[in-house]
Amino acid sequence: MESIYNKSFDELVSYFESIGQKKFKATQVFEWLYIKRVKFFDEMSNIKKDIIDRLKEDYVIEDISLEKVERDIEVNKYLFTLNDGNHIESVLMRHDYGNSICISSQVGCNMGCRFCESGRLKKVRDLDAYEIVQQILMIEDDIKERITHVVVMGIGEPFDNYDNVMRFVKIINENKGIGIGSRHITISTCGLIPGIKKFMEESGQVNLAISLHAPNDEIRNKIMPISKVYKIDDLLRVIREYIDRTNRRVTFEYILLDGVNDMDECAVELGKILKGMNCYVNLIPYNETENISFKRTKNHQIMKFYDILKKKNINVTIRKEFGGKVDAACGQLRAKKKGEL
Ligand code: SF4
Repeated sequence: MESIYNKSFDELVSYFESIGQKKFKATQVFEWLYIKRVKFFDEMSNIKKDIIDRLKEDYVIEDISLEKVERDIEVNKYLFTLNDGNHIESVLMRHDYGNSICISSQVGCNMGCRFCESGRLKKVRDLDAYEIVQQILMIEDDIKERITHVVVMGIGEPFDNYDNVMRFVKIINENKGIGIGSRHITISTCGLIPGIKKFMEESGQVNLAISLHAPNDEIRNKIMPISKVYKIDDLLRVIREYIDRTNRRVTFEYILLDGVNDMDECAVELGKILKGMNCYVNLIPYNETENISFKRTKNHQIMKFYDILKKKNINVTIRKEFGGKVDAACGQLRAKKKGEL
């Protein structure tokens, strides 16, 4: 049976209409699920028993379960077990502007980025929307605080699970439920052009981030197999179109890997290809893992790379490092759980 957390508000309205009930039942159910956080339909005390019975026939209130939390001052890393025994993870980062979480959209990932634990373990399956929603609910329950920002950049490629991810966005964006504003939600893709084109039409105010990680196809091919399918020129052409059409700024994620993509000439080339674009570049110091041989770029080179981009008038930041004590590189907890490390 389907999880009721899979349903957007509009879908619940249609459901209640289809069973001869008033639309406002959808508001009541959303409040019970997302504000009061009940675990059983029977707890929805302002809904009549015959409707509760019908809900029980059609849906389940399905949870994922919390397997493990690693806690540090500004970051918590969560490992969840899904109902079929698979594992996913999410990371909570406490910023001065609020609580941000990085969540998973698939079990494993088929994109095969060479620097990534999740890519190493391959995709097992897509997540349903409710399994993505549940990551937020469970973390809010754990910290007893609201999540203010969501980035879909954990395990998985969101545009390889497009429909469920967009359904998830609709659910958490709904004011009668969790109510996370579109501008506080970011979808990060490794560059699936068909997904970006679709997103361009449907994203509203939701942010787009691109995992670029190289200034040209030659380097990108070595670390991101997807670039053999979607060339960097085509990718940038579509991003320019996205910016023109949506008037939204795009973020380019750039993981700095020692001796691979962090040389001065890479920064110069990156500045050149992004010139004049409404974007900003997020430089990410690499979080080393035991299984992957890439090394973190030295601090002085990170600063040099940053300075070169700055001088080329590119908006650039260096991502604060949360990693270290908790296994914060994407996919590490899950990999450990699978006994692969
Ligand atoms: S970096 Fe993202 S897209 Fe690439 S393999 Fe890892 S999870 Fe997949």
